[in-house]
Amino acid sequence: MTQLEWAREGIISPQMEQVSQYERLDAEFIRQGVSKGAIVIPANTNHTNLVPCGIGQGLKTKVNANIGTSSDFGNIDTELEKLWVAINSGADAVMDLSTGGDISAIRQAIVASSPLPVGTVPIYQAGIEAIAEHGAIVKMTADELFKTIEEHARDGVDFITVHCGVTRQAIARLKQQKRVADVVSRGGAFLMGWILHNERENPLYEQYDRLLELSRQFDVTLSLGDGMRPGSLADATDRAQIEELLILGELVQRAHEAGVQVMVEGPGHLPINHIEANVQLEKAICNNAPFYVLGPLVTDIAAGYDHITGAIGGAIAAAAGTDFLCYVTPAEHLSLPDSEDVRQGVIASRIAAHAGDIAKGVRGATEWDREMSLARKKLNWGEQARLSLDPKCFHRVHTKHATGGSACSMCGEFCAMELAEKYLGISVARCP
Ligand code: SF4
Repeated sequence: MTQLEWAREGIISPQMEQVSQYERLDAEFIRQGVSKGAIVIPANTNHTNLVPCGIGQGLKTKVNANIGTSSDFGNIDTELEKLWVAINSGADAVMDLSTGGDISAIRQAIVASSPLPVGTVPIYQAGIEAIAEHGAIVKMTADELFKTIEEHARDGVDFITVHCGVTRQAIARLKQQKRVADVVSRGGAFLMGWILHNERENPLYEQYDRLLELSRQFDVTLSLGDGMRPGSLADATDRAQIEELLILGELVQRAHEAGVQVMVEGPGHLPINHIEANVQLEKAICNNAPFYVLGPLVTDIAAGYDHITGAIGGAIAAAAGTDFLCYVTPAEHLSLPDSEDVRQGVIASRIAAHAGDIAKGVRGATEWDREMSLARKKLNWGEQARLSLDPKCFHRVHTKHATGGSACSMCGEFCAMELAEKYLGISVARCP
């Protein structure tokens, strides 16, 4: 049975119990959220070393780190190193987006090593194997695509991105739209090419029941991909994007009816003033299924700094109710991320997620900041390091310039904290 089916039966599974302990929430709250489809716990029955993680309404905003090889770089050890950098930086999930090297071996190694939920995009491997087998992605058969999905499920992958909403109708909308950046989703582009070449409907849409049955068998959470996500601010919230979202809303309903856990992916490139509306639309159309956004990136012009661009969008999206942020690294739009890019991307997204959690009133979020403020007032550097998001960075910067007193080298003997205590007599001991 899937977590959704357990929850509907009124049973609190061990995974729900673990999520409730991590979130410091009542297990019954988690069960109810899962039963309504507002919370998912991606937990493939074959992922034996998994520490379950809940994503959705009322929970901490989670952060995903994308790792994986490209056709230019296909080293398994490098990807396992990135996995550990992501874990040690505080990521809540990882996606293996490998498109180079021995894709199956890399995926299996990542699942075997990862206590975090692992996601994949099976169409990448299916497309690459179709090129090797038939000479072109468009010659891939539906059966080959489903065979790859089954392999990922059997290997213990906890959630899969499936671009079921890239339909002939959505492509017709896209053509009429006359976008600036057309399609920027790799999986979306693969499927669009397949549909147009074969003049047939998307097999993931046409055979959605087959996909649901496969997902149910291993409790793989579906992450309904946004193949029509805008890749330019000029294309944000356009008819092609909304057409796909309407289809995804219907597919969420069918997944829930089949007892399959499901979340919905979202943009992409969005102006700040579009973000809240995008979150509200997803929640309203998709029956409150958890929303998983890439960034979103709030400007197109910051390549090299897109972890910051994504964190600005991510904070606003999280505050508006987004449940899951896919990180963006400084390498976005430029190259395959290395370990340092992964670290910076995770930290930037964690800042965004936490900022959103404060606005959402997530349990413990505000208290964490208050504790840090009290430690600052006490000039308690050890406690500040412990409470900081990145203690290593904290130590490195704090010890960069030596100082004689107990304050830091920013203001030295004119430390405002010390002066206030000296002249106002306001000490932290009297703070409520
Ligand atoms: S010296 Fe300045 S920056 Fe450093 S703790 Fe005191 S007030 Fe803060």
